[in-house]
Amino acid sequence: MSMAATVQEAVRAVARQLAAAGVETSGLDARLIVMSAAGMTHEDLLREPGRILTADEAGTVSRHAARRAAREPLARIFGHWTFCGLDFRLSAETLVPRPETEMVVERGIGLLAGVETPRIADAGTGSGCILLSLLHALPAASGVGTDRSAGAIETAGGNAEALGLAGRAQFAVANWLDGVAGAFDLVVSNPPYIESGDIAGLEPEVRLHDPLAALDGGGDGFDAYRALIPQATARLKSGGWLVLETGSGQHKMVTYLLQNAGLANIGDDYDIAGHERVIRAQKA
Ligand code: GLN
Repeated sequence: MSMAATVQEAVRAVARQLAAAGVETSGLDARLIVMSAAGMTHEDLLREPGRILTADEAGTVSRHAARRAAREPLARIFGHWTFCGLDFRLSAETLVPRPETEMVVERGIGLLAGVETPRIADAGTGSGCILLSLLHALPAASGVGTDRSAGAIETAGGNAEALGLAGRAQFAVANWLDGVAGAFDLVVSNPPYIESGDIAGLEPEVRLHDPLAALDGGGDGFDAYRALIPQATARLKSGGWLVLETGSGQHKMVTYLLQNAGLANIGDDYDIAGHERVIRAQKA
């Protein structure tokens, strides 16, 4: 960034740099980079386009713009990201929370209507974003989040503290729900569901910066569902629900696995692009 640039000039320059690097959301990302460096909201940016960046702020903008141009996601550069309106710290072991995963939270909240003190389990919790968003929305709920990665569990625990939810959230290193005791009204998961052979073709933001273990669903993409669905079924209370995120085109196979486990009342949710994204099933 040249000396004494205004925030508006900085946004334009960064947007050009990012567009040239093939970043699809160049304009939005440029604004977010400048806003975070200058400590400004989007409204501040519109109101004071002529505000001059300090040398420190301009330095931060240049460094962050260079990293984004190298296709590092903004969530990794900032070290935290918003999900369901809450702020989540990230680490190398956690997936960046995706907007479509908010559908798991919304569906879970809807299915728990009428349950007085819901017990929730989140298998493969990562940053803890699904479980903690549910607990934030449901003040009488409590729950457990598991992850195979100790680093993820540490990050999730820190997020629970920061959000004031540590009293109602427990986190444990476990393979899915292995060793998790108790009976749950709701089991949620956003498991890895990408076919191993498709990983190499993913965007660099995902391929190089999200943990492989959070993406790779095995040869046909269904390894996690095969392992998790029977375990979750065994831990659901009668009348309890399992809510899973899936990839597009996976509902036929996941429906078969849910039926095989003895679950019923299977229902599908579609994302804004019209793809199958969330599937639910109930224990009789
Ligand atoms: N539950 C976490 C999330 O939705 C992690 C999911 C994953 O790592 N596959 O972000």
